[in-house]
Amino acid sequence: MRKPIIAGNWKMYKTRDEVLSFVYAVNEKMPSNDLVDSVVCAPALYLRDLVKRQGANLKVGAQNMHFAEEGAYTGEVAPKMLVDAGVTYVIIGHSERRAMFNETDESVNKKLHAAFNHGLVPILCVGEMLEHRESGQTEAVIKEQIVKDLSGLTVEQAKELVIAYEPIWAIGTGKTATPEVADETCGFIRETVKELYGESVSEAIRIQYGGSVKVNNIKELMAKPNIDGALIGGASLEADNFIYFVEAAIN
Ligand code: PGA
Repeated sequence: MRKPIIAGNWKMYKTRDEVLSFVYAVNEKMPSNDLVDSVVCAPALYLRDLVKRQGANLKVGAQNMHFAEEGAYTGEVAPKMLVDAGVTYVIIGHSERRAMFNETDESVNKKLHAAFNHGLVPILCVGEMLEHRESGQTEAVIKEQIVKDLSGLTVEQAKELVIAYEPIWAIGTGKTATPEVADETCGFIRETVKELYGESVSEAIRIQYGGSVKVNNIKELMAKPNIDGALIGGASLEADNFIYFVEAAIN
């Protein structure tokens, strides 16, 4: 069975005081079993603060990184810097980065390779725009992303990768995909992985749903066979909500 994975994507929110209050509150209430992987993906500046204080069942992730080892890339963070900070996961190719910061499938692919080369677990985001869904292009768009983004990854790497299916029209809009649509598209992603890497990888790879996940829809989403977790933006900022999501993934 695949272990569920709940990840909070804090985006550009929270002050340091808010980060510390969150981690203390979450540590106190976190279930003591490790039936679910729980991750908070924080702004780079707070990663070290979180790693120092993370309880046994909380992992820390970054929201982006550069693919280069090091170099003259003003404002960027290198993979080895994340490793140095004690980070475990890194979100790669979030749609906000693709739309606003010129992230392409080519740079996403380089970042996936760099993450694996440094022992970081990437959470790869894929998803379609509203116009793609309305014109029946969802599967073609997602397949193209997966084929290009995963290019050159080994079987072992593909097995460890986490994919987040995030329909762009559902992010931050309050419009969640129905559990049926989310499950069907996650199933399509699993099929695509199967075509590329075979059944053992497609059965092992964890696929999250993301896009307006809230406390009132997490359980329905988690009940679906192809959904192994959630990548949650706005609703993950509150410690109590985050604990609720983690518990919902166990039950
Ligand atoms: P949202 O964001 O939960 O606020 O819609 C999800 C994401 O961007 O990962």
